[in-house]
Amino acid sequence: MAKAAVFLDRDDTLIENIPYLGDPSKVRLMPGAAEACQKLRQAGYFLFVVSNQSGVGRGLITKEQVRSVDLKMESLIGAAGTISGYYHCFATPGDPYDERRKPSPAMLQEAAHEHVLDLARSFMIGNRLSDIQAGLQAGCSAILLDLCVPMEEKAEAARTASFVAKDWNSAVEWIQRRHKS
Ligand SMILES: [Mg+2]
Repeated sequence: MAKAAVFLDRDDTLIENIPYLGDPSKVRLMPGAAEACQKLRQAGYFLFVVSNQSGVGRGLITKEQVRSVDLKMESLIGAAGTISGYYHCFATPGDPYDERRKPSPAMLQEAAHEHVLDLARSFMIGNRLSDIQAGLQAGCSAILLDLCVPMEEKAEAARTASFVAKDWNSAVEWIQRRHKS
């Protein structure tokens, strides 16, 4: 049977957003993120990070730096293997050769194909309208994590999302309620 996943945005969802972060020593988890990831994993969900990292396409950071930030994040989250995979788009917005940037659902679909995931039973969690759009377009439920939503897109993101979570704990509780029902 296909597995259910929770797709996770990275910046301002799992870790504090520092634009074009390439220095792992500056990685700080968002409050509640580590516990939430562990609970979701224990509940049987496979976790995938889905992140736009245009700093690579802009020549500001390297893929290796993105990887080192990811690894630092994973070590702060705790138990090894909590994150099952990473999908990044390194292209800059509008790059005609790369259509994978969120709000495109392409990275979620890629993960679903590679890992045999049931998108209809899966969730996307993020802090941007583009996360919500990507999740819904992929056929997932989409949760707006209302910790760092840019003011100018907050109303539309909240209206569009399947659920608005005030913190990580309420996001996990909502998923667990849906899981049972
Ligand atoms: Mg984000």
